[in-house]
Amino acid sequence: MTDDLLSKDHRAVGPGTIIGILGGGQLARMLSLAGAPLGLHTHIYDTADYVPALPVSYDMTVAPFEDEAALVAFAAKVDLVTFEFENVPARTAEVLAAHVPVRPGPQALAVAQDRLTEKDFITKQAGAQTAPYMAVDSVDDLVTALDAIGTPAVLKTRRMGYDGKGQVKLTADSNPAEALDQIAHQSAILEGFIPFERELSVVLARSLDGTVRPFDVVENIHRNHILSQTLAPALVDHTIAAEAQAIAARIANALGYVGVLAVEFFLLPASEGQTAAGRLLVNEIAPRVHNSGHWTIEGTYCSQFEQHMRAVAGLPLGDAAMRADAIMDNLVGDEMDQWPALLDDPRAHLHIYGKRETRPGRKMGHVTRLYDLGTRPRPEQSS
Ligand code: AMP
Repeated sequence: MTDDLLSKDHRAVGPGTIIGILGGGQLARMLSLAGAPLGLHTHIYDTADYVPALPVSYDMTVAPFEDEAALVAFAAKVDLVTFEFENVPARTAEVLAAHVPVRPGPQALAVAQDRLTEKDFITKQAGAQTAPYMAVDSVDDLVTALDAIGTPAVLKTRRMGYDGKGQVKLTADSNPAEALDQIAHQSAILEGFIPFERELSVVLARSLDGTVRPFDVVENIHRNHILSQTLAPALVDHTIAAEAQAIAARIANALGYVGVLAVEFFLLPASEGQTAAGRLLVNEIAPRVHNSGHWTIEGTYCSQFEQHMRAVAGLPLGDAAMRADAIMDNLVGDEMDQWPALLDDPRAHLHIYGKRETRPGRKMGHVTRLYDLGTRPRPEQSS
């Protein structure tokens, strides 16, 4: 394809559109792969010169996220910008938004980047419940919050926490000052520890015209705070599944969201007289494609990655319905070494992210196995 065919003047939304993606990890890699059949090209922006998305993308810019000249040059080469991680600096999004559409928009980033803003938004603007929480900026605040919320509880930094990083569990014996030392006295929240029955998530897509298509509710099993396994669908009561999807849709609508959004829930054990809504607490939201949606590549008519590309490009959404039940296992750290054995199962869908270095806790790939609708086995392991 010549540069002329891809020159900005010739690019309408649709085939030939160039979508800029901030971040070039496995999510960007799978977005690039999903865009290709629709003729949507991707241009990755990352600080590292080799990233998983590089081998499958049309173009790449290597520069810091704070480099405004590089951001402006990148914006000139793309039709719109999306991102694969929520910690995009606000200024980066602002610089880009002056030149091209950024989808999802800055409000979704602002809400998802800060646990306090996120919980306030969920409880006050989206009509959903979370674990009890209070802001903590000092030892005094933490003592007050522990008094109000009780123990066990979890102290979490407001910003930049993921996969359990920036979190300290507190019991009645914990020393508040030491707990704050462990998170380097960053602004934080204290959250009640939830004795959940299961963890669920809803991944949905919302288009430019406001159409919302949720995928089926799934169950997630974490190990060492990192997602280990996703079970699709979650074997929960229909009223629970419908309520979780309704809450996720309310959040997306309240944000005027465009793209794929994930909402993680704690499901409380059933107790007498409790409604479905009463059993569902929102843990957090992710304004991007999500690990608990990887099974949709093979398990649904239109994957989360294709839905996201369609949504941000302003195209109609595909069908989120399941084609098969699925179990997705992450390959974390040296679990990746199992790949030859995994390939011995001709029906295992193996995804290798192409990371050059294996590190403990690093997501290196995943494998999805399909089952006829309604026949998914229960997991061997439990959380
Ligand atoms: P997060 O980074 O907040 O999603 O936390 C990672 C994981 O830690 C969650 O998926 C839960 O398994 C666990 N966790 C976090 N917060 C709580 C809580 N308030 N109560 C119980 N478990 C929690």
